[in-house]
Amino acid sequence: MPALQPARGTQDLLPEAARRHRRVGETARETAALYGFAEIATPIFEFTEVFSRPIGEHTDIVSKEMYTFTDRGGEEVTLRPENTAGVVRAVLSNGLTQSTPLKFFYSGPMFRYERPQKGRFRQFHQIGVELLGVATPQADIEVIALGNRILQALGIGERVVLELNTLGDPESRAAYRAALVGFFSARRSELSEDSRRRLETNPLRILDSKDPGDMRLNADAPTFDDYLNDASRDFFARVASGLDRLGIAYRRNPRLVRGLDYYTHSVFEFVTTDLGAQGTVLAGGRYDGLVELMGGPSMAGVGWAAGIERLALLIAEPPPTPRAIALVPIGEAAEARALTLAEQLRDAGLVVDLGYSGNLARRMRRANRIGARAAVLLGDDELARGAATLRDLDSGAQSEVALGALAAHLTTLGL
Ligand code: ATP
Ligand code: MG
Repeated sequence: MPALQPARGTQDLLPEAARRHRRVGETARETAALYGFAEIATPIFEFTEVFSRPIGEHTDIVSKEMYTFTDRGGEEVTLRPENTAGVVRAVLSNGLTQSTPLKFFYSGPMFRYERPQKGRFRQFHQIGVELLGVATPQADIEVIALGNRILQALGIGERVVLELNTLGDPESRAAYRAALVGFFSARRSELSEDSRRRLETNPLRILDSKDPGDMRLNADAPTFDDYLNDASRDFFARVASGLDRLGIAYRRNPRLVRGLDYYTHSVFEFVTTDLGAQGTVLAGGRYDGLVELMGGPSMAGVGWAAGIERLALLIAEPPPTPRAIALVPIGEAAEARALTLAEQLRDAGLVVDLGYSGNLARRMRRANRIGARAAVLLGDDELARGAATLRDLDSGAQSEVALGALAAHLTTLGL
């Protein structure tokens, strides 16, 4: 079997990588709490229609990226490719639509069948927020400000640029869509095969194409601005002035669109040039039609999701975890005493490593390998005196310390 390899597009998070991921997740969770966003956790699989209907059958996600299977009971289920639809489903299932505004934060794995490359996996992780029930631009401004603050807190504010666009209200969007179809239909033969397909199904997506020929055409395509009605124009102006008031810089990108069908008004991405082609680290927008599309009442919504893997590549080395104390018993009696001593030291908040087996030299090698701050050597003679030998592994200094005074002594070491 091709055994003992992770499945294509998945990866193990060894402790060093797991630490970076945790730093991203915890920073985001703490920052979201400052804005009153509470954590929600929904299942990682749902009935397939939870995703297929709202995301739209002509999107890349639904047409080719979903992990869908029939379970043993004959139910069609899908591993979640994103979490907005799951959160909205949870709001509806739990009857929360009366208690708006709803503000949720989430963090967890997502699954998409994609071609793996740097910053692109089949199992990846996202943090995200959803703000439901607020139709005014304040909501857009707050979720963008929250995303911005998280990136600042992670120390990568200087490495990203906020790109902002509007897709207008449904009326504007329909007018623009018609204009795009007209423009590209007249140049159908110049489009890539993918984009010829998009022309029938999801023409806005052509603007997002990475095909060089498509990109040349896109440069001359009509822009949304000419098709925005007054209400859409006003909404966008209010979002922009709110960001100005907060001193959050943005770049207007009139070609920014989102892959999913349910977006209206604001769309935004924080992008970096430091990750090659996979430059989008945080992306979101307003999705006023989604709740209704999923069978709920008419309810506004705005949110974003960010890829933890991409953020983890950008952050500086997280602060080190506290260094361990290695307990090194010599002899059987000491072995037994070490077990209880380890617990007492942990009660005092110290990180304690028991080497478990081997002679003195072997255990000291392990203490060095894990970067222990000090070793506590327990021999029969010392035990008889109620003491242990403390070896400072940075300075090499060695002294005998009474067991009762050990915890206090160790905490002064600077771990
Ligand atoms: P892309 O254009 O890179 O495919 P997308 O539009 O499909 O992105 P979204 O659905 O908006 O991405 O997801 C939000 C964020 O989640 C992305 O900006 C990215 O940081 C991350 N992300 C999306 N797909 C993947 C993946 N396959 N592997 C790693 N991170 C991902
Ligand atoms: Mg994608």
